[in-house]
Amino acid sequence: MTKYLLLVALLGVVWWLWRATRQSRPGARPERGAPPEAESMVRCARCGVNQPVSESILADGLYYCSAAHLREARSDDH
Ligand SMILES: [Zn+2]
Repeated sequence: MTKYLLLVALLGVVWWLWRATRQSRPGARPERGAPPEAESMVRCARCGVNQPVSESILADGLYYCSAAHLREARSDDH
């Protein structure tokens, strides 16, 4: 009997992990009609504009609104 309980518990963990990886996958469609506004916003390190993470460029731990601003920020370093 204990074996069956362990099996059920294991299936529960696998199911939970499967759902967690599905929801965290970028580009996955939001389930239950989750509003896109729920996506976290980041600030461009160059111009300071706020925009969703998925539309930002991550480089060296900083977010940029466009490739142009990433280039500008990098050219300023030198
Ligand atoms: Zn910018």
